[in-house]
Amino acid sequence: MKIVVKIKLVPSKEQAELLLEYIKTFNAAATEAARVGYENKSYSQIDIHRLCYKSLREIFKIPSQTAVRAIGKAVRVFAGDRKKCPVFKSRGSATYEGRNFSIKENGTISISVLSGRIIIPYIICDYFADRIKSIKGQADLIFRNGMFLLHCTTDFVEPKVKPFGECIGIDLGITNIATDSDGLKYEGVHLEKNRKRFLLSKTTLQRRGTRSSRRMLKNNSGRQSRYQRQVNHFISKAIVAKAKALGLGISIEDLTGLKARCEKTVGRRQRSMISNWSYSHLRKCISYKAKMAGVGVVCVDPRNTSRTCFSCGFCKRNNRKTQSIFLCKACGYTDNADVNSAKNIKRLGEIVNLPHK
Ligand SMILES: [Zn+2]
Repeated sequence: MKIVVKIKLVPSKEQAELLLEYIKTFNAAATEAARVGYENKSYSQIDIHRLCYKSLREIFKIPSQTAVRAIGKAVRVFAGDRKKCPVFKSRGSATYEGRNFSIKENGTISISVLSGRIIIPYIICDYFADRIKSIKGQADLIFRNGMFLLHCTTDFVEPKVKPFGECIGIDLGITNIATDSDGLKYEGVHLEKNRKRFLLSKTTLQRRGTRSSRRMLKNNSGRQSRYQRQVNHFISKAIVAKAKALGLGISIEDLTGLKARCEKTVGRRQRSMISNWSYSHLRKCISYKAKMAGVGVVCVDPRNTSRTCFSCGFCKRNNRKTQSIFLCKACGYTDNADVNSAKNIKRLGEIVNLPHK
């Protein structure tokens, strides 16, 4: 499996200008390569190379690999669409060959710009830190919000999934983002407060409807989604680490039903909460982190998991005392509602995983 390792470069002001100059030149060269290819009805790397490799190097004063990668950027677009000639944004991504950058473990990166190599400090999150050595091949230099990021692709040989009999069941919920079948709730203390703040400001801003409020809404949505992603990484990491340590699989609900289920069972306020939380991203995080750790994942049909009694299997909508407390009308079993769901999901996962059981 391929994973993308993201590295944030911390250039000085002069270095930032050199990087930006490189990006702009790269994209101008890619646009020129696309133009030449388009006008000559040539869409392959070899054909465009033959037509304009030399002139690209002369016009833009770029090294060999930069010209090759600029042509490559045009070719990638032609692979999907030959109907129009692409014009690349001047600050779009620039591709680097593996030999044009090297990431040192001392926290610096040596990277080519038009005038030669420069050495820039970088920041990498702990999660990726031990992957630096495995980075090879090409990378994309990206300029976003005033920051330079290098997205490097690494090959990751995923371990074999360990066979498992038992699962941790994960309920993705409304009161808590995730709850497991042992009753552990995955949510930071500060989380709920933040989530409410984001929601509140969204509603307030939507109601206002002015141009500046729309702009703020847009900024907020970016901030909120980055925040959610961060929390999702945090939660999924904890879940996978637990499953791995205990030698268990992970049973998780198939999300297609989640939104539909919520529309029926919860009020508008909670519905807005659930549609505002990126559960599909959380599920993706759990899946790929599990894959990397060799932990098995099973998906189960979530229908009725919240209204079925874990103890006796009795299923009825009013099996809940409140949103957070489950109380079985048949046998009197009571539990936290999310924990009861998570236990049902755990059991379903184990049945799916071991059909003979
Ligand atoms: Zn019961």
